Amino acid sequence: MKSITILGSTGSIGTNALKVIEAKKEKFKVIGMSAYSNLELFKEQIEKFNPKYLCIGSEKNAEILKRLYPEKTIYFGDDGLKLMGALDEADIVLTAISGAVGIEATVEAIKKEKRVALANKETMVAAGDYINKLLKEYPKAEIIPVDSEHSALFQSMQGSRKEEVKNLIITASGGTFRGKTLEELKDVTVEEALKHPNWSMGKKITIDSSTLVNKGLEVIEAHMLFGVDYENIEVLVHPQSIIHSMVEFVDNSIIAQIGAPDMKLPIQYAFTYPEREGSSALERLNLKTLKELTFSQVDNEVFKGVQLAFQAGKIGKTMPCVFNSANEVAVELFLKGQIKFLEIYEIIEKAMELHKVKEIDSLEVIKNVDKETRKWVYDNYAKD
Ligand code: NDP
Ligand code: MG
Repeated sequence: MKSITILGSTGSIGTNALKVIEAKKEKFKVIGMSAYSNLELFKEQIEKFNPKYLCIGSEKNAEILKRLYPEKTIYFGDDGLKLMGALDEADIVLTAISGAVGIEATVEAIKKEKRVALANKETMVAAGDYINKLLKEYPKAEIIPVDSEHSALFQSMQGSRKEEVKNLIITASGGTFRGKTLEELKDVTVEEALKHPNWSMGKKITIDSSTLVNKGLEVIEAHMLFGVDYENIEVLVHPQSIIHSMVEFVDNSIIAQIGAPDMKLPIQYAFTYPEREGSSALERLNLKTLKELTFSQVDNEVFKGVQLAFQAGKIGKTMPCVFNSANEVAVELFLKGQIKFLEIYEIIEKAMELHKVKEIDSLEVIKNVDKETRKWVYDNYAKD
């Protein structure tokens, strides 16, 4: 029996993780669960999975939970989230929060030498170098990727040595606006941007998919997770989202992981690795109904998310953090209707231009750069 803490249980990854756990009750148990604002869904989940530790965004909601569940340990806020990352009784911590707010809980989980099932890619982008240093200090801790592309890369690499890997080929659906021109993107609405062709996900990542910033974040995430140079990471548009990514080896052999576009598989694999297990929760890909698998290049003139990420990644140090933080606020402002779609790129570009890179010698450096970048975007672009 493995005990799992889910940070962000009320989100898209969180609810999928609970489906994985429910289908294998004899193997997995939820020991801790965190939500931010969705108290109603959180209560349903608590009734069903009965975890011992809970965490919610506000103190007010924590008080409500304490009255309802006096026998449980209940935390709140960012400090609560840190405590949730460090629970002694957990074997696995699934980081399914969206945004750089997940960094500290991940750090705590590593210090407690847990397995981190990492969905929260923003953590690896903003703080990857710091996290990698920490993993050396705590060698029993491990990060198993949940992001479908990175799970695919990780699965494709099994049984090979690092020196045998030549290139990582990350596939991209191309997002909801694939094929559109800059002119056509000028006035797109939030509703249009939220329609993803293949995946059903949280709002932030769905917007990131439409700008291809998500793919950019994934390029940096892949570099940080697998230690592969940016020159050896490639992005390929593959609209069907069946091949989840590929690894090219030194002998030119390419191994791909393919499957239904269903996050439950990478989530479960991060729980059961190095083993595989069957489950009624997992979707099956019917190869007979597949008509074609196609590939094309990213239109970098229109969708700048990938190129900007390569730029930030190659500069390194605190620049990936700026790329991520500027994007997080830009997406928030776009969702609130305060900026236009293409201004997301403008904000990232300007924030990166203005930033003077720093060495990351502590977590404080990242926290400060994150804070300064957010402030700059709010000061210059927020309308309230
Ligand atoms: P959602 O927006 O659906 O869920 C986010 C979760 O985090 C919710 O439980 C939310 O709580 C909680 N949360 C939000 N803000 C805060 C905060 N400030 N403090 C604490 N908790 C907070 O996101 P997704 O599930 O789509 O994505 C989660 C992560 O996984 C992201 O990093 C994303 O990039 C990554 N990912 C997601 C994929 C997907 O298929 N969805 C695929 C690959 C990666 P509440 O709802 O209660 O407010
Ligand atoms: Mg992904």
